[in-house]
Amino acid sequence: MSKIVVLIGAPGAGKGTQARLLDERLGIPQISTGDMFREMKTQDTPLAREVQEIMASGKLISDDVTFRIVRERTSKPDTAGTYVLDGYPRTAVQAEQLEELAKEQGKEIQAIEIDVPKDELMKRLTGRRTCPVCGEIYNVYSKPPKTEGVCDLHPDAQLTQRADDNEEKVRVRLETYDELTKPLLAYYQSSGRLKKVDGTGEVEDIYSTLEAGL
Ligand code: AMP
Repeated sequence: MSKIVVLIGAPGAGKGTQARLLDERLGIPQISTGDMFREMKTQDTPLAREVQEIMASGKLISDDVTFRIVRERTSKPDTAGTYVLDGYPRTAVQAEQLEELAKEQGKEIQAIEIDVPKDELMKRLTGRRTCPVCGEIYNVYSKPPKTEGVCDLHPDAQLTQRADDNEEKVRVRLETYDELTKPLLAYYQSSGRLKKVDGTGEVEDIYSTLEAGL
């Protein structure tokens, strides 16, 4: 049976990095709600403006709006088999909505927690930089590009920092995670659908453990 792989972890735990690797190496599509919301930046609609405002504050977009974009995205042909959700669900209501969607799509849910201690997360997030061309993720502390501020693969591309990756917003995002998203771990655990991966250490080692758990 095809699966919906749900990556759960605090902001900065490495969900996006691991989801990209699963996509690149196993061809499992990565569906990132955060990326989809960020892409709305180029649209000038009331909804897009509202989304930008909420994102900039570090808070969550409403469950119904989020569910709508997930449903729409996962109705495309590339998600007919197994796909990975990166950053969804993040609340109890979203988890319920996902159960319905999984049933409709005839898929089983496999949740994987990527666990990283709090003090490490702040460093990862405030140091994070992204290539606007290929989406490659760097970190000024732990994974700097060869030349400061530019992508190794796209020398013309200046790396960007996400608007919500500053200390104040990171604090709100971590609190939101603890309050609303963390309880989902017990939910998936109680139904025997949770695996836990240590999210510290080398990206490749984390990936191997994660891949083995699928
Ligand atoms: P991320 O890139 O996953 O850290 O998400 C960035 C921002 O997008 C979050 O801080 C939220 O404002 C919004 N967002 C992403 N995923 C969700 C979700 N599942 N539910 C609500 N808001 C979300």
